[in-house]
Amino acid sequence: FQRLKAGLSRSSNALTEGITSIFTKRKLDAETLEELEDILIQADLGVATAMTITERLADGRYNKEISGEEVRQILAEEVENVLEPVALPLNLDTGHKPHVVLMVGVNGTGKTTTIGKLSSKLASEGKKVMLAAGDTFRAAAVEQLKIWGDRTGADVIARDTGADAAGLAFDAVKQAIETDVDVLLIDTAGRLQNRSELMDELQKIIRVIKKQVPEAPHTVLLTLDATTGQNALNQVEIFGKVAGVTGLVMTKLDGTARGGILVAISAKHGLPVHFIGVGEGMDDLEPFSAKEFAQAIAG
Ligand code: GDP
Repeated sequence: FQRLKAGLSRSSNALTEGITSIFTKRKLDAETLEELEDILIQADLGVATAMTITERLADGRYNKEISGEEVRQILAEEVENVLEPVALPLNLDTGHKPHVVLMVGVNGTGKTTTIGKLSSKLASEGKKVMLAAGDTFRAAAVEQLKIWGDRTGADVIARDTGADAAGLAFDAVKQAIETDVDVLLIDTAGRLQNRSELMDELQKIIRVIKKQVPEAPHTVLLTLDATTGQNALNQVEIFGKVAGVTGLVMTKLDGTARGGILVAISAKHGLPVHFIGVGEGMDDLEPFSAKEFAQAIAG
């Protein structure tokens, strides 16, 4: 929570300073409400949430003096209201063996790192984990996944750079079944430069997984980089359409985060948010808490 707070405070500083400067001995009139709505939208919270917050504030307080503290409290409450229904733990104990998890997201958003962190968490719960290096385009991604496999004691299925990712996914599922794996985590490429190619590849991977296990992938996780801002909304839409995303992981909340976008995404899509990434290390993956996130945003 401290790291989340430290990370988000950099972005929410602008938000809290904005709130403080607006509400230093000022009445809650049309002008202040408009200014507040602007800074909430600039913080990526989304128009709908910004409007709800300003409407709630105006209710019963219009033309009265109001403190920055009061505004921040209502902001935290409203953000928590939006996030509470989506703050859901990831359940991998669904009776499927293997439980197949497909990790999707734009390159650099933290797919491979999140797989490593998840692998560590699952291993500590005594689960047998297998990793599949499905980002076959980048040698570095394959190498990174192998390192995570070594660190966490998970078997890694990898091929040479340029190999067919769907073929690799097929083999990984087969081996996971044969070797009694509990959870298979499949990494993928996230080259958004060529959207149709990306769609084709992801859909092909999903098709070959289904050939062996029709109800798989049981979980499709999308990683979103908290420093991205508005673009994360497009990513949710694109990957949602192509890969049937079942849940979100927001990474890099320890950095210069603009985590406000998670509020806009949740208000619009209502997808479960399972984890947040707060660093590059093995233990830097935390279950998502609506209350802590809301408090960190409101400063
Ligand atoms: P991928 O291309 O989606 O697989 O992304 P990677 O897992 O390779 O991550 C890209 C970079 O972001 C790497 O340098 C990671 O160490 C870093 N990274 C991933 N998650 C986090 C996080 O939660 N916090 C920080 N600070 N860095 C992260």
